[in-house]
This record gives sequence, structure tokens and C-alpha cells, in this order.
Amino acid sequence: MENPIALVTSLTPDAENAWLAEIARLLPDERLLPFQRMSALERQDADIAIVANPDPAQVAALPRLVWVHSLWAGVEKLVSELGPSAPPIVRLVDPELARVMAEAVLAWTYYLHRDMPAYRTQQSDRVWKPRPYRHPSKLTVGILGLGALGTAAAGRLNEAGFEVVGWSRSPKAIPRIRCLHGEAGLDELLETADIVVCLLPLTKDTRGLLHAERFGRMKAGASLVNFARGPIVVIEDLVQALATGPLCHAVLDVFDQEPLPHASSLWEHPRITVLPHISAPTDRESAARIVAANIRAYRSTGMLPQSVDTESGY
Ligand code: NAP
Repeated sequence: MENPIALVTSLTPDAENAWLAEIARLLPDERLLPFQRMSALERQDADIAIVANPDPAQVAALPRLVWVHSLWAGVEKLVSELGPSAPPIVRLVDPELARVMAEAVLAWTYYLHRDMPAYRTQQSDRVWKPRPYRHPSKLTVGILGLGALGTAAAGRLNEAGFEVVGWSRSPKAIPRIRCLHGEAGLDELLETADIVVCLLPLTKDTRGLLHAERFGRMKAGASLVNFARGPIVVIEDLVQALATGPLCHAVLDVFDQEPLPHASSLWEHPRITVLPHISAPTDRESAARIVAANIRAYRSTGMLPQSVDTESGY
């Protein structure tokens, strides 16, 4: 009999039970148990934990863990809360998540490309004023982060006819995408993109990456889409760049504090579109399939899936 697998979450009981049922159905030979319902002996024996916003003390109460599988793609909070002595952390890498994110990037790129924020204002002011159409090939979209999500988004934008330039930490070659890296690469992307889409992980190097000096490099009338994590953007600097230029609009799906506090002035900012962290929700069915496949592969080969590099933070 294999060791038990712990499910450690701070989800609502209904959500946790739905995950439990979905994953257990795919792993009929495993004993998948919610942390709260595990005996002291089962906690001693668990070798894998599947987690979603877990209480770090509960993960620490599983002394024989060999690895931890996150149900989410972004793991900055988990990495920092579990600390350097934690077992390897595997994050969710799901083609369905990448497809949904790429769809969101295309949708909100069209929102900006087809001047929807301006038409919204015109409607409020009862102004009838057609704006000139721009062919997608005349717009450059810059993607910060060319990982699982950024690469999918870049491909989707390219298929739709946009010029795409991307930026990553290491050099990359992706067909039809101009790939940049390093400090000079970031400057070039900011200086050439009409729309900058942030799909970077939140790490010590990306926290506060988009600040006044970098906004100052952007093209007059450019827009920002942040679908990654709130603290990558210095929000006061963004608000300033929207007020005095060069930025024209920002679509924000992620914030320093979520839900965005009721008192936040961002809610009513005319040049900011506020979204409630919906650009790429995790699909339970597809995520459960990926988690189950990773666990099956580990059981049969003893090999861990690729885990997060705790030094770089992603
Ligand atoms: P990923 O596969 O790990 O890709 C990260 C990309 O960022 C890589 O290309 C990496 O460069 C680049 N990068 C990291 N640090 C960098 C730095 N300091 N300078 C330049 N480039 C850097 O991550 P992913 O799966 O695409 O996900 C990205 C993020 O999206 C997640 O961390 C999460 O925060 C966010 N997310 C948001 C939602 C939402 O609904 N809003 C949903 C899911 C995920 P290399 O390729 O050189 O390593």
C-alpha cells in the first residue's frame, strides 16, 4: 500500500471536496485524504501533499513529505511561506490554463486595439466620433515573461496578426516572435510596444519591476495589461504615468491586496479597467488530470516532475 497523500487547503469545504472527488476519481489506488481528516499516523506517513493556499503549519506537520504539488500556477506565496527547508514544490503547468490566459490576452488586446475605453467615455458624454481603424500588424504587443503562459499568449497574438515582442530572463527563440532578454531587452520592449502585457512570476527580481523610470520609456499612448501579480507594478507610479503620460490606459486583473479594497481609488479611475483576478482561472478537471498524471509518473518511476527553483523563486 502506497503512503497516503495529504490534501492541504484553505478553500471552502465545498471547493475542497470538489477537488478531492476529482483527483481521487483519477487516482483510485491512492489514499488521498484532507489534512483535517488524517490520523496522526497518516500525517506521519504522507509522502506527497497537494496544496491550495495551505496553512504552512499544516504542511510542516507532515514530516515525511517528499514533494508538494500546488494546484495553482503562481507559487510565490507558497515558496516564501514554506521556506528554504521545504520539500520540492511542483506548480501547476496546464496547457488549458495557458489557452485560457492566451484567450484573455487576445481579448483585452482587442479591447485596447479597438479603443473600447475611449468609446465607453464617448458614450457617457454622448459623443459620436469614429476613431481611425488600425490594422493589427501596425500594433506591437510586448509580453513580459515567455514561460508557459507568455509563450501561449505570444502565439495567439501572432496568429491574430499583431507584431509580438517578448522578454524573458534567459535568451529564447520562438518562431515569429522577437525575443529579448536582459536590461537592454526590457528597455527595447518598453520603447517599442503599444501594449505591454505582464505575465512574469512575482519574485525578488520582478517585485516593483514596472516603476516610474520604466513607464517613462514607454510610447506615448501605450497601455499596460497586468495579468501576473499586483506587486510587479508600482501602482502609484502607474497612476502618475496615466495622469501625465506616456500611458493611456491600464487593464489590471491583479492587485497588491485582493479583493481590491472597497475604498481604493483604482475602482473609479477613468483610465484603469479593474478585473477581479479572472484572466485565467484554474480549470479543476484539467488541473486534476495533470496532478494525477504527475503523481502516477512519480509512483511508477520515482522521478519528481520539474520543481520550482527556490533560488530564482519560480
Ligand atoms: P513560467 O512558465 O515560470 O514563466 C515565467 C517567465 O518569466 C519565463 O519566461 C521567465 O524567464 C520569465 N522571468 C522570470 N523572472 C524574470 C526576470 N527577472 N526577468 C525577465 N524574465 C523573467 O510562469 P507561467 O506559468 O507563464 O506563469 C507566469 C505567472 O502568471 C505566474 O507566476 C502567476 O503569477 C501568473 N498567473 C496569473 C493568473 C491570473 O489569473 N491572473 C493565472 C495563472 C498564473 P525564463 O524563460 O528565462 O526562465
